Formats: sequence, C-alpha cells, structure tokens
Amino acid sequence: MSPSDDVVNRISPLAISSDDFRSAAHRLVDRVADFLDRLPASPVTRGESPSAVREAMDAARPLPREGAPLAALVDRAATLLFDHSLFNGHPRFWGYVTSSPAPIGMLGEFLASAVNANCGAWLLSPMASEIEAQTVRWVAEMLGYPTGCGGLFVSGGNMANIVCFLAARAAKAGSDIRTAGVGGTRLRVYCSSETHTWIQKAADISGLGTDSIRWIPADGEFRINLEALRTRVREDIEAGDKPFLVIANAGTVSTGAVDPLSRLAVLCREFNLWLHVDGAYGALAAAVPASAALFAGLGEADSIAVDPHKWLYAPLEAGCALTRDISSLRGAFAYHPPYYHFGVEATNYFDLGPQNSRGFRALKVWLALQQVGREGYAQMISGDIRLARSMYERIAAFPQLQALSHGLSITTFRYVPSDLDRMDNNVTNYLNDLNCELLTRLQQGGEAYVSNAIIGGKYALRACIVNFRTTLQDVHDLLPLVVRIGGELDAQMRPAHPRPA
Ligand SMILES: *Cc1c(COP(=O)(O)O)cnc(C)c1O
Repeated sequence: MSPSDDVVNRISPLAISSDDFRSAAHRLVDRVADFLDRLPASPVTRGESPSAVREAMDAARPLPREGAPLAALVDRAATLLFDHSLFNGHPRFWGYVTSSPAPIGMLGEFLASAVNANCGAWLLSPMASEIEAQTVRWVAEMLGYPTGCGGLFVSGGNMANIVCFLAARAAKAGSDIRTAGVGGTRLRVYCSSETHTWIQKAADISGLGTDSIRWIPADGEFRINLEALRTRVREDIEAGDKPFLVIANAGTVSTGAVDPLSRLAVLCREFNLWLHVDGAYGALAAAVPASAALFAGLGEADSIAVDPHKWLYAPLEAGCALTRDISSLRGAFAYHPPYYHFGVEATNYFDLGPQNSRGFRALKVWLALQQVGREGYAQMISGDIRLARSMYERIAAFPQLQALSHGLSITTFRYVPSDLDRMDNNVTNYLNDLNCELLTRLQQGGEAYVSNAIIGGKYALRACIVNFRTTLQDVHDLLPLVVRIGGELDAQMRPAHPRPA
C-alpha cells in the first residue's frame, strides 16, 4: 500500500500559509491594542449570569465535524472574550490578589508558545532552561534571598507553596518518607490562623492530613503569636509528635500582614524546624526600600513561595518556588527512569518539581524584569502600597465608612449607616449582611471591583491593589460609590431585618 497524497505532500488541516498566519496575527494584535485602549472606560465586568454567558457562546453546540477558517475563529474568540469577561487589567480592579497583566508578558506568552520549548529537560529547551535559571536568580535577588538557591517556575502560589512543603517534608521527616510513605510519623506543621488555604491542600495531598496543621492564633495586627507557637511546638514534642515545618506569611491574603520573620527563624533553628515563607503576594515588596524592614529575616528562610503573576504583573500563570539549597528540591522530586538519558551537565527541571513536560513560564517574567529593572518594579509596587494607604486614610472623610485594616497594598473597610452604632454587637449581623450584599452589587455593577475579608468577625470590603494601571483618582472614586450603594441598600434592607431597631 503506497502512502496517500496527504502524507507525501503533507496536507495537514492545522497548517496554514505564513501569509494567513501573519494577517490573522496582525489583526489580533490590533484588536488587543484597541481593547487595552478602551479598558479604562469599559466596565470591569458585565456581571452576567452563567446562563447568559453560555448563551452568548452557544454552549450546547456539539463538537464541529469539520473545520472552519482560522481568521474568523480567532476574531470570534476575541469578541466573546472582550464582551463577556472580568478584566483584572482594568484600573479599578482590586479583587483577591490578581494583577493587571504587563503587555510585554502578553508578547512573551506568544513567543514562548511559538518556540514551544519543553522546559522539563535542558536538552529540550537549552535557551529556555537557561532563561528560567536566570529569572529564578533575579527573583531571588529582588527578594534579598541568596542567589545560589534552587528554584523553578510553577503554575502559581499554591503550587509554589506545595512544592516547598514537599521539599520540607522530604528533608525533615527523619525517614525515607518518599519510599515508605508517612506511615505512623506524626509530622506537624505550624502556621497562623491567617494562612491561605493552600496549606490544607498541601497537608491533604502529601498524606499528612489536615489534622497535622497546628493553627496558631494571630495578634491584633494579624501576625502569628510567637508565644502560642512556641508553647504548641513544645506540647507536641512532649506528646511524641514530630514538628517539622513553620510557615511564615510575608503578606497574608486577607490583610497583607507580615509575620516576624527573624524571630521565626530563631525559633526554627532552636527546634530544628524548616522555615517556609509564603510570600506569594507580599514578598516582592521587600524590593521597596520603604517596606524592606518588614521583611528582615526573609533571607534566612529554608524556602520561599512567590507569585510573579501577582506583584511582577505577569499574565497568568507564573508562580516561583525557591529553596535555600537546590538539593532539597532534588531530594523531594528526582527519580531517574530508564527512558531519560540526557547526559548533559545542566539543570533538568523535571528533577526539581512535580511536573514532567513544562511550559516556558519564565519568559514573560524575564522580559518584564528587563523592561523596567529593579527600580521600575520598586516604583510600581511602592505606588500600589501608597494608593492602598491613601484609600485607607481617605475613608476617614466619609462618616458612613469604617476603615478596618491596612497592610502592604490591602485596605479593608465597611459601610456603616451613620445612625447605627458600629460598636453595638446587636447590629453586627445586620452590618455583615448589608456589606455582603453591598459587595455583590458593587461587583456586578462593573464600575470598580473589590473582594471581601472577615476582620475580627466583621464582613469587610477588601481592596488589594496589584495594579500598575490604577491612579489616585480611581482609588478616590471607589469611596463615594460604596457610600451610594450602601445607602440605597440600607433603605431597602433595614425595614425587613430582625436585628437593628
Ligand atoms: C495568592 C496567594 C496564594 C495562592 O496563590 P495562587 O497563585 O492563587 O495559586 C497563596 N498564599 C498567599 C498569601 C496568596 O496571596
């Protein structure tokens, strides 16, 4: 049987002429540039229902049997996304910890996918692997972490923290836990009650179980209570448990609090514990001279997780896991199967983390770090912090608003009708309901976007500014908007509510 024409003169349905590629790509670039221009005057989100979004994109449509022309498909995809998305690149988007994406990062993603380097092994990605290694060193340098550290890019903060958690587990278990499993070893991990939910996933998927987490209370500034920590570690040792890991927050997700890193490092040395810093959101603020003192001791950590898709403004996804010693990553992840013989003296990233094939996440970060340099980043991060502080201070000008916290670039506050006593516990439930509903209205309205936090039992609106597009005017416009929506809602909700008189 002779090969048919379609493989002799290969006619592949996916292949297109370079002219077609060029014209479709140029058109897309034009549309993206227009989209970025229009963004500040567009809604942050349309607040549509899932069914409206499904209808817009013809969700029930079966898989097409045959193909369609590329240019029209790309065009339709752009229209659907521009018309039905929430834009974290909008100057008034301050929800969660999600940054505005850097344009150079968009170009980096495009280029990375064109070369399609597989950063699992050096031989498959010679230049890309070296760029990743340099980017890891530069990120470490920005944090003030030893640049001889090990590190790699992963999908985000959760994975970066989990990778470091597994490195700590392998290093500190005191047995060959990778071969024998957790068995009866009662490993214990310590973190403040403000710690992000990744710790539960880490304890769960690592086989330790979430009961192994010792939640230590936080102080009035949302930082871990050191005395409570010390007491709990001692008690656990006496009970025959095996403490192995302390997690320090460098920028908690709710309020931006930074745990006392130097003192935690001392405690960890005393008890031979691994010190991991969750700096997913906040650690990069160490590069800002005005906040550097908060991060003293960061360099002593055994590992750090940091999220370039937060304060380096990389488009999603980009997380980065760093360990003081690269051998602890190998010690947690390397295996040498017979089908890999790479034989070069270089870092093969599949040895350092859970992934095998790996995309080239570092490129967009590497480009942006060079576009603006350390100084450019320090300026933008410091700008975000100053804007959050300005929001916090300006809240005082509105009698109906109560500021609740400010840390790094996070400000929390709530709406309190002027005739209600904010100290009265009887109105707490009503204020929580009112602010929860206020948040929903605000989010759906599309004029500005914040998320929520619970601050000492109070439901709060939370603005986290990780957004180099935000201006002082944007920040100031939020507050009258909240006052207006709050007033409207109070008029509707109070008569029906059982609590406040
Ligand atoms: C965002 C965040 C995480 C999770 O990071 P992802 O990138 O969303 O996976 C973990 N810890 C802290 C402190 C964070 O701010």
